[in-house]
Amino acid sequence: MSVCAAPAPLATWAWQEAGERLVAPPAVEAATPYSGWSTAQLLEAFTAVVPPHRPDPGLTLALLTAPWQGEALMHLREAADSLRQRLCGETVTYVVNRNINVSNHCVQHCSFCAFRRDPDEDGAYWLQAEDLEHRALAAVHAGACELCLQGGLNPAATLEGSQTAYAEQLLQGFLRLAPGLHLHAFSPQELLFFADQDQLPLAQVLRRLQASGLGSVPGTAAEVLSERVRQRLCPEKLSARSWVAVVLQVHAAGLPSTSTLMAGHLEQPADLAAHLLTLVEVQAAAAAKGLPGFSEFVLLPFVGQAAPTVLRQRVSRDQPDRSAMLELTALARLILGHWIPNHQPSWVKLGLDGATEALRWGCNDLGGTLMEEHITTMAGARGGTAQTPEALEAAARSLGRPVRRRTTLYGHP
Ligand code: SF4
Repeated sequence: MSVCAAPAPLATWAWQEAGERLVAPPAVEAATPYSGWSTAQLLEAFTAVVPPHRPDPGLTLALLTAPWQGEALMHLREAADSLRQRLCGETVTYVVNRNINVSNHCVQHCSFCAFRRDPDEDGAYWLQAEDLEHRALAAVHAGACELCLQGGLNPAATLEGSQTAYAEQLLQGFLRLAPGLHLHAFSPQELLFFADQDQLPLAQVLRRLQASGLGSVPGTAAEVLSERVRQRLCPEKLSARSWVAVVLQVHAAGLPSTSTLMAGHLEQPADLAAHLLTLVEVQAAAAAKGLPGFSEFVLLPFVGQAAPTVLRQRVSRDQPDRSAMLELTALARLILGHWIPNHQPSWVKLGLDGATEALRWGCNDLGGTLMEEHITTMAGARGGTAQTPEALEAAARSLGRPVRRRTTLYGHP
């Protein structure tokens, strides 16, 4: 356990527990005991891991570095698909929701981000009350059951000098306009920013936002939970340990969150192992305490087309490598196993055809209709910004699978 003090807004218990739950990237030697294992043995080992057991870091690294080609790749897909079938059944789910990116003003400069702007820069925007009202009413009209709110870190977004009060006002306004809509809002980075700017304990910010209607939290800003990758990818962003600490506090407040992984850039298999095993540890913590944990896992392939030049040149790929992302979809399904049953591909990043194919590689959910999306689209994603329920249902049926609408938390609307 690390003895360094928690950053001010975080509870000491969460900071300490985050130090225990955050898994470090395993060293190459950790996989040595599994070096003689066949890919079939690796697949069998993972499908046998059931709670309270967790995958071994060395075994996880061995799975992530195994040569998945030809017949082995086919067996990997089948194992992931079969685990999906056992945990979630055949039905594909989706949610009718509206995504609203309130503003792209942001004080940080993540190396992959084509969304952020300084306030006086070309393309900067900040939606005001009338725009927000119009969007919320359109969501209700379209039968949405969820509004998803995320945006940049905008120091000017205050009410009477308070970020939290501004966020409360946003949530309360949406609830007045669209009572009954589930408000899925504010990434761990945004929540920590509110607490930091207002010099308030995070627990207090969470209580106030919950009282204003916050129903769950997007598990974005996780990127890859490996400090060595974050140093290059997003050095200004909250650390991996802080992300875990915020999420532990979110769950402790009684709020579920999603979990995400942004992959296909600078990360190595050991970083992916650290990330996925950390998600398992956080989910195990929630389960042990009887708290809501992660409702789903979403793989977010890196889109480089409009990303800042340095990272774009290092990755030298504008669109995700679909084959690599499908392989990772299957591997994540096996590693997260019984701990996180719901897996969702990103149709914004992979296109609806890619997301449909991911339903054969371990995914059981097609995400939301979104109605609009700016963050990934400004990065150059080609998947579009909206899907109709009919399009998502047709995608599921094209595989001969039944399909149903769901709520944010996978209930029946
Ligand atoms: S990813 Fe988020 S925090 Fe980072 S620069 Fe973009 S908007 Fe800001």
